[in-house]
Amino acid sequence: MLTFRGVRKSYGDVVAISALDLTVRPAETTALIGPSGCGKSTLLRLAAGLVLPDTGTVTFDGLALSPATIEAARHRMGYVIQEGGLFPHLTARANVTLLADHLRRPRAWIDDRVESLRDLVRLPADSLARFPTELSGGQRQRVALMRALMLDPDLLLLDEPLGALDPLIRADLQRELRAIFGSLGTTVLLVTHDLNEAARLADRILLMNEGVLVQDGTFADLRDRPTGSFARRFVSAWDAP
Ligand code: ADP
Repeated sequence: MLTFRGVRKSYGDVVAISALDLTVRPAETTALIGPSGCGKSTLLRLAAGLVLPDTGTVTFDGLALSPATIEAARHRMGYVIQEGGLFPHLTARANVTLLADHLRRPRAWIDDRVESLRDLVRLPADSLARFPTELSGGQRQRVALMRALMLDPDLLLLDEPLGALDPLIRADLQRELRAIFGSLGTTVLLVTHDLNEAARLADRILLMNEGVLVQDGTFADLRDRPTGSFARRFVSAWDAP
């Protein structure tokens, strides 16, 4: 579904990702975790084709991402940036339908899709007429998720999707997201700095440090068998729920 081969990305002197080889498996939820600055968001941006690697290749469904292929690939990906990234001057509904309108999807198709997604993310009907500032943080994240799912993406990319929410709402949404991912069977790649969140949401956890993948496995692998001194330190600093 999504493959990185020999990928390196730097910003000036800062190496954000170095020599990354990774295959994101279809229909799984994969969490990228690690300290601030370790390269998680850069890896997600490389997956979305928002930045291109200095060397190496990112391949999405058999197609190497390049300026010529990115637009078509992006239409098959849903991307939720930190804090949701909703346009403040558009209603929630207009945010959700923006790309489908642009692609001239039929009105009846759009209306049906909005209704089924609203049901999926459990938003009240009247909330879609509101502007983002008139919604709660949790509702804004649900709208951002609807927007990302609107075109039924093959790949869903989520950058700290629940980062701005208070702990109780966050725990509720973690449970709901897990159920939503399961019911859709979508491939999900998400960034979090919270190991508990990774454990609740993901089938597979990738621990990163300084632009390098340091461990790849399940939550139980990481918790019980951290490999190397960084993974051991990371796990020993973990607040078990
Ligand atoms: P994380 O998401 O794990 O916090 P990032 O991928 O955002 O890490 O950043 C990795 C490194 O790359 C950091 O040192 C960061 O400062 C640097 N970086 C990220 N984006 C840019 C950019 N647009 N310009 C310069 N440096 C950047």
